[in-house]
Amino acid sequence: MRNSIGTSETSMNGTSLDGALLKVENLRIAFRTDEGQIQAVDGVDLTAQTGRTLGIVGESGSGKSVSTHAIMRLLPGTAVIHPDSSIQFRRKDGTVVEITQLAPTGREMRAIRGGEIAMIFQEPMATFSPVYTIGNHIMEAILAHEEVSKQEARERAIHLLDRVGIANPSRRVDQYPFELSGGMRQRAMIAVALSANPSLLIADEPTTALDVTIQAQILALMRELQEEMGMAILFITHDLGVISQIAHDVVVMYLGQIMERGTVREVIKEAKHPYTQNLLQAIPRLESLGQRLHAIGGRIPSPMERPPGCPFHTRCPQAMPGVCDKAFPETTHFSPTHEVNCFLYEGS
Ligand code: SF4
Repeated sequence: MRNSIGTSETSMNGTSLDGALLKVENLRIAFRTDEGQIQAVDGVDLTAQTGRTLGIVGESGSGKSVSTHAIMRLLPGTAVIHPDSSIQFRRKDGTVVEITQLAPTGREMRAIRGGEIAMIFQEPMATFSPVYTIGNHIMEAILAHEEVSKQEARERAIHLLDRVGIANPSRRVDQYPFELSGGMRQRAMIAVALSANPSLLIADEPTTALDVTIQAQILALMRELQEEMGMAILFITHDLGVISQIAHDVVVMYLGQIMERGTVREVIKEAKHPYTQNLLQAIPRLESLGQRLHAIGGRIPSPMERPPGCPFHTRCPQAMPGVCDKAFPETTHFSPTHEVNCFLYEGS
């Protein structure tokens, strides 16, 4: 049975996609362990719009990768998605599907994964098989989603390598991943991801392992490809500096919850949440040359020892004892797009 909701863009719970490509509502994900359940994501809402990039920022353990893996239905068997969670996605044919109701290995999810939602990762070598050429990988991705001949798939692979800026693509197509530099492998992985012309690209720390100049080239390439293909991008990173170069909108996550969201200008220039402000202060700047880098005190707690109240209160310089450790703050709106969860602003 196909788990389509219909063409009206209205979900079973009566909410609407409002023209968005993807709408994640109240996403809650726990992992079963011998010691009990660990809540990794707790009530996350995300929206992806065609032609826009949503940056998802947070330290390791913030739940950003787990949330996007849920969209791809790539979570391990120990993961439990809460039944109230919703992930609605508008397919290329206009139907809206509730992804949480699809079987992870079922036909429809396999068609969406790779065909309509593609993903790129930090480390291409973990994605590429060392015994297949770059061309094999791209052709396999094309043939999995389209009925074209092998010759056509090879020509498309060469064209894609050319499009992502790999020189001499008709020679590179027959090379193995280990024969390419880190930057070129990342370009080749983008070519694989784009092979089926996805409407949503999830990029999980795609520039973290690259040096700064190659990182800038890959970000420029992604912006160019987005303008040309009109896809939505979810860009996951721990680095607000990278976000300022690629994202239109930003969500800041901490320990599985959203602390602040807004346009990139609102979050970078008018950050309200103490966690966002601390992340911004941790970005190295030329004018601070010679000074000690700012570091956020303490460590992100283990999800097994999740603090009560605002999860950032154990590290927040402005934490108010008896307030911040008692309940999670309500959302305060500063504009139609800018909102923050912090007791400093409640009632303002
Ligand atoms: Fe800091 Fe309290 Fe705001 Fe949390 S709610 S960020 S602990 S001031």
